[in-house]
Amino acid sequence: MGTEVSVYLWHDDAGTAKNAVDAIFAEVARLDRLMSTYIEESRMSEINRDAARRPVHAGEELFGLIERSLDIAVLTGGAFDITYDSVGQHYDFRAGLHPDERTIAGELPLIDYRLVELDPAAESVHFGREGVRINLGGIAKGYAVERGVAIASRFGVRNARVTAGGDTRLLGDRRGAPWMVGVQNPRDSSTVAVTIPLQNEAISTSGDYERFFEEEGTRYHHIIVPSTGEPAGEVRSVTIIGPDAVMTDALSTSVFVMGVDQGLRLIATLPDYEGIVIDASGEMYYSSGLQPPE
Ligand code: ADP
Ligand code: MG
Repeated sequence: MGTEVSVYLWHDDAGTAKNAVDAIFAEVARLDRLMSTYIEESRMSEINRDAARRPVHAGEELFGLIERSLDIAVLTGGAFDITYDSVGQHYDFRAGLHPDERTIAGELPLIDYRLVELDPAAESVHFGREGVRINLGGIAKGYAVERGVAIASRFGVRNARVTAGGDTRLLGDRRGAPWMVGVQNPRDSSTVAVTIPLQNEAISTSGDYERFFEEEGTRYHHIIVPSTGEPAGEVRSVTIIGPDAVMTDALSTSVFVMGVDQGLRLIATLPDYEGIVIDASGEMYYSSGLQPPE
């Protein structure tokens, strides 16, 4: 998944604990082989190669996650859009490459989640236009950590923390005390902006500091505004807390695109979800459920 995965869990039996950890890592590897756009043999790559010409069978799991991604696109007014990759594929953050204006203008009409047509009965995906591409990078890690804690539970584990990049799902507490999850300071990786005590919840942070390069004073990073094809500039980091890591992952990416006002307004409509946004000047904003009582 192009990121670090970590598992932290307790079990009275060391052998069972080790088996649980192994099973979780095997699951993450399985999901990567299914959903990666970098693996040519993945079902995801097959969809991107062929779905404009024929409906491609996605299978229940991948189909379900694509379907949820499209629902979240509707919920966020298109801020979350897995077709961002039509333009997104032209960024290479390791090599320091970004698309020029002509490339963006050419690909931009292909960013539109409505071009992804689903057939639930056949569990197949069809693209409405040649050149459409989808990428689950903004939601798959949340799904992976959600699967991770489900597997831990199955092994009888009651206290666990599974993290993939900026996405964490907690199972239970840290054996009598809450898990303490830090939100990194976006411009100083050695310090945290805030630490949040949590149990049994998911927390996702999207930042402009994970994958980026700078060119002539512009910061190019990996969260793309679907309407422009360019990296979102209004905020530096977004953290979302809630019951489901699939949602916290997708919402952290979405609110990053939407910015402070629109983003916090969206969170206010979702009773189970709270958020912390750090804007371009370093100012921190909290959703209403995280603010101290007056
Ligand atoms: P991280 O990958 O660091 O955890 P995010 O969860 O915010 O960060 O996901 C960023 C990823 O989401 C990008 O690498 C890309 O794959 C994908 N992405 C970028 N822009 C969008 C967007 N507007 N809608 C959906 N997915 C996006
Ligand atoms: Mg995300």
